[in-house]
Amino acid sequence: MSRLVVLGAGVAGHTAAAFARKWLSRGDQVTVVSPLPHYNWIPSNIWVGVGLMKREKVVIPLAPIYERAGIEFRQARAVEIHPEGREEDPSPFVVVESTVAGREGQREEIRYDFLINATGPKLNFGATEGLGPDGHSLSVCTDGHAARTAQALDERVERMRRGERQAFLVGTGHGACTCEGAAFEYIVNLEFELRARGVRDKADIVWISNEYELGDFGMGGMHLRHAGYLTPSKIFAESLFAERGLRWITRAHVRKVEPGRAFYETLEGRQEELAFDFAMLLPPFAGVGLKAFDRAGADITPGVFMPNGFMRVDADYTPRPYEQWSARDWPRTYQSPAYRNLFAAGIAFAPPHAISRPRQTPSGAPIAPAPPRTGMPSATIGKAVARSVVDMMAGADGPTRSASMAEMGAACVASAGANPFTGTAASMTVFPVVPDFEKYPEYGRDPHLTFGEIGLAGHWIKILLHHLFLYKARLRPGWSLIPE
Ligand SMILES: Cc1cc2nc3c(=O)[nH]c(=O)nc-3n(C[C@H](O)[C@H](O)[C@H](O)COP(=O)(O)OP(=O)(O)OC[C@H]3O[C@@H](n4cnc5c(N)ncnc54)[C@H](O)[C@@H]3O)c2cc1C
Repeated sequence: MSRLVVLGAGVAGHTAAAFARKWLSRGDQVTVVSPLPHYNWIPSNIWVGVGLMKREKVVIPLAPIYERAGIEFRQARAVEIHPEGREEDPSPFVVVESTVAGREGQREEIRYDFLINATGPKLNFGATEGLGPDGHSLSVCTDGHAARTAQALDERVERMRRGERQAFLVGTGHGACTCEGAAFEYIVNLEFELRARGVRDKADIVWISNEYELGDFGMGGMHLRHAGYLTPSKIFAESLFAERGLRWITRAHVRKVEPGRAFYETLEGRQEELAFDFAMLLPPFAGVGLKAFDRAGADITPGVFMPNGFMRVDADYTPRPYEQWSARDWPRTYQSPAYRNLFAAGIAFAPPHAISRPRQTPSGAPIAPAPPRTGMPSATIGKAVARSVVDMMAGADGPTRSASMAEMGAACVASAGANPFTGTAASMTVFPVVPDFEKYPEYGRDPHLTFGEIGLAGHWIKILLHHLFLYKARLRPGWSLIPE
């Protein structure tokens, strides 16, 4: 009997555990460790955050799903990895701390033959003073945050109905943020919703981000095939904003948030501030802070994880200037170079470098979007890693599957409104996520597979994906036929 332990039950971990369970024999064990009792379909948090969807519609309890599937579930937070076990017993193990009410903090050691780290991001609100729901801004990164944001929006709408003007600020809360696409989707939804509630004329809506230009999305922008033309995503995004009366500030590092005020530094070094009544600002991401120890108990965290907490995998981490970055730097198998039975999937792996060109303000603050790792790549990587692990358990020498972000595409559907008749969407697909200038010398991406559309069709796709992916996450009959 072999034992696979998966840390994290998000897009990557849940996908990896479900496929591994399907492919392994019943004698083998699959255990998932995750601190929350539920799975959150994060992309639909956007709709929760504008009050168009109830929080309950984007979460599903994990325990019954795993029980039905034959997966062991520990509601706990992993804190330590011991890939060499102990001197007296070399079996590797993880240390987890229970998050079950009444048993919080109780430690347990779980032994493994293979370990997949799919712990996603730490939402690093602490990087910016006053940022986040415990500070003075809002978020949609979790279902709970999104529900609070919807409440705050209701209050602001009430004020507008009484005739007050309200200032809305949406974007990134630090110069090193990622996930600009999610904030972009939120601002488009917010504008749509304020119109739907009849108060748009009372709202000033401003975008603030660390992008060098609007439409960068942490991917260095892209050239989208749109209406027969190759359009830079800057033009695509700027037209969308201009049509909706959204003002934008780019090249900004938000350094502090106070009640009703955001302070930021621009790439040129200007210190600016903005007043707001409602600010939804995403945090930068870091790894969740797992520690690693060798058999003698010595801390080997720096060998297994990068300083930002993400896990080292088979990427080329040699520091190089932007001009020398290559698609080949990106990992393919997500295996730890230190331990053959240790893998990372989804946001938990350390990218070799950014995709967008990193810049700094004169005072040294970063204007450096981190690379996005959206749902489709996270799930695709989770599935590929699961296959490699299953094959290695059956005797393969090493990983059998690869899933490089320089060889896969991603889609961003910024869908506004949750209604199939009145909604709309700006849909963009990009291939590959990481540009490959050797293969596609002009723009780094395949112009036939990188396109953008605005209209109802993308909106229908987004609604369909919401239902399909939650069906899949419930592991209902035929789930494995639904693509990642
Ligand atoms: C608001 C928002 C909207 C988005 N919209 C889209 C979209 O439209 N399309 C798209 O493709 N992508 C979207 N994304 C990105 C997408 O959500 C991520 O790519 C995806 O969730 C990453 O999957 P993951 O498994 O790596 O991380 P997560 O899904 O975050 O999962 C991480 C898991 O690890 C668990 N965990 C954390 N710490 C520990 C620990 N110490 N031990 C064990 N488990 C732990 C967490 O509880 C969670 O279960 C959006 C993201 C945000 C924030």
